[in-house]
Amino acid sequence: MNQTPERIYVEESVSNHPLTKKILSKIENVPLVYIKDYKKIGEEKSFTKRAAEDKNSLALASKKGELVKSIGRMDHGQFYLFHEIDCKYDCEYCYLQYYFQTKVPVIFVNRDEVLEKIEEILKSFDTPYFHVGEVCDALAFDYLTEFSFDMVNLFTKYTNGTIEFRTKSTNVENLISIKNPPQNIIPSWTFSPQIIAETIEHKTPSFNERLSAAKRCQEAGYTVGVRLDPIIRVPGWEDQYRKMVEELLTTLDPRRIDYISLGTPKHNKVLFETIKRRFPESPTILGEIFPSNDGKYKYLKFQRVHIYKTMISWIRELARDIRIDLSIESEEVKELVFQSC
Ligand code: SF4
Repeated sequence: MNQTPERIYVEESVSNHPLTKKILSKIENVPLVYIKDYKKIGEEKSFTKRAAEDKNSLALASKKGELVKSIGRMDHGQFYLFHEIDCKYDCEYCYLQYYFQTKVPVIFVNRDEVLEKIEEILKSFDTPYFHVGEVCDALAFDYLTEFSFDMVNLFTKYTNGTIEFRTKSTNVENLISIKNPPQNIIPSWTFSPQIIAETIEHKTPSFNERLSAAKRCQEAGYTVGVRLDPIIRVPGWEDQYRKMVEELLTTLDPRRIDYISLGTPKHNKVLFETIKRRFPESPTILGEIFPSNDGKYKYLKFQRVHIYKTMISWIRELARDIRIDLSIESEEVKELVFQSC
């Protein structure tokens, strides 16, 4: 169920843009506020007030500058999109809390420029991989934007590229309406046990709702990604996570899971301080979490290795051959984890 935004900010320069009109035609009875520049929304409020309040609004704007960015070296062929920024959900561990000045989710309506840029990359790279969901939730506003339809058209034409929609949302109606969807479109969900979803991942759909959305996509012909990241050591985490792994792998068809990615908290200093300020009791910063060699707050190495190995043993009981990755981990940890798994 999608919550209607409390208010919609519209940059004056895009008020007549066809995509602006299309999006507004789908939302009724919401106050519109015309503005010059989305970056100034909420600047008169304190950080905490902005962070708490502005996520309930939405902005339609024009993106200047880069719309598609490469991850790491350009020749690696990994990209993420800036067609939307920020998120209507409010996970305590999310770096978007501090990353952008404004806290309002923004949809950029100059979509044609994004499409052109993606097409350019699809033509010039052998097997480019596009991540949607690094700076937004990939499907949270798909019911308004229909971005997925544009991507299906593009990636049906260019089968050399792959695009992943990383989400916690249940907005899969557009995706599942596609008959015989292209296999290079991968919707992926971040799952957490329900107790984490309801206490730490504020405003997000429940575990069961996400699972049902992923299942529906599998049934419609997609291969899906599963992200279990961050795994948080709350009291009794083993019981919670084991149960979750069992539910995931007995509900979803493991043959139609592209990968399972595991991760643990890795907060940089700014994020750590932001969480402390907004959610001082957050389990994501409590317990044995310390600055690591790279300056990020993490669980100790032996604890991370234990978490990964334990999770992998549960996964392997039910899905022996599934591809398992560790998200942003050192080579040393990867070796310790996989050498005996
Ligand atoms: S759903 Fe993803 S992008 Fe949105 S707040 Fe949570 S972690 Fe951040």
